[in-house]
Amino acid sequence: MKRIAVLGSTGSIGTSTLDVISAHTHEMQILAMTAHSSWEQLAEQARQFKPRWAVLSNSEQKSQVDLAAFPSETEVLFGEDQVERVAAAEEVDVVICGIVGAAGLRSAWAAIEAGKTVGIANKETLVVAGPLIMDLARQSGATLLPVDSEHNAIYQALQAGNAGEVKRVILTASGGPFRGASLSDLQDVTPEKALAHPTWDMGPKITVDSATMMNKALEIIEAKWLFGLSVEQISVVVHPQSIVHSMVEFVDGSVIAQLSPPDMRLPIQYALTYPVRTEGLNTPMDWSQSFELSFEPPDLEAFPALRLGFEVAEQGGTCGAVLNAANEAAVERFLAGDLRFCDIATSCEQILKSHQFESHPSLDRLFELDCWAREEIKKWKSC
Ligand code: MG
Repeated sequence: MKRIAVLGSTGSIGTSTLDVISAHTHEMQILAMTAHSSWEQLAEQARQFKPRWAVLSNSEQKSQVDLAAFPSETEVLFGEDQVERVAAAEEVDVVICGIVGAAGLRSAWAAIEAGKTVGIANKETLVVAGPLIMDLARQSGATLLPVDSEHNAIYQALQAGNAGEVKRVILTASGGPFRGASLSDLQDVTPEKALAHPTWDMGPKITVDSATMMNKALEIIEAKWLFGLSVEQISVVVHPQSIVHSMVEFVDGSVIAQLSPPDMRLPIQYALTYPVRTEGLNTPMDWSQSFELSFEPPDLEAFPALRLGFEVAEQGGTCGAVLNAANEAAVERFLAGDLRFCDIATSCEQILKSHQFESHPSLDRLFELDCWAREEIKKWKSC
């Protein structure tokens, strides 16, 4: 029996994780689930899965929570520190890190420090603190399994050769709802349009990131640290069908790809059942019908966020933390109708340029810069 902690169980990754676990009740059991403030949904999930711990990271809510809504075998805990505690608990084997944004970093850190098998669905962990996280995993012996579909595909494809035989990885991008648009088409996109993703059903923040292609920018940075690549070894190709989730090109010219219909439950299941594969909930590819897969180069002019991704991956140091925080804050302003779509990348680039770069920052310094960049974005005005 694998004992699992699901961090961010009420979010998009979390609910998909629970789906996978309910299809594997003979092999896995939930020991802990955590949410930020959706206590009613967390209580409902707890009634179904009866975990030992249910954690609400927002401790200010404590007085509003009806503890009787949780099953008697579940201990309800409050506060960020309790999320970290359950992530590192001795009884837990696998931790799925599904907390969106930089907020997920501390709990992912705790799980990695405790040497767990960690399914990283939270790309910000690696974007913000990649080198520190990879060092920590080497020291603790934690196994990091990417749940981000592209990185999960690369992880699978890398098994076709040795690390020294890898020429490059090719991240696929759906292109989002604005594929083929020009820079001028994208000046005044509304949140409603940006939230209509053609192939993936995801949370709002990542859906906007997909529309700006900032999501792919963050994934470039994530891939660099996770797989120990140079920026020259990372390419992006637009693939609108979202069937090929990414590819690895080896030195002999062979390209190994991972294909499946777009469904996050597959990479989640891969992390949960690793190192074995089992039958799951995923719809298989239908080879009885004709279909086409197409690929095209990305438009770096219309999607300047993508260019920023390559630049930040090259520079490393504090840049990932600043870009990530600036983008989170900018997306928040955009969704509130307070920032134009095209200003998301522009504001991030300006904040990056104005920050005090350090090549080997500490985790505390990264958290400081995270706060700083958010404040800068709040004040930022288009010129
Ligand atoms: Mg992805």
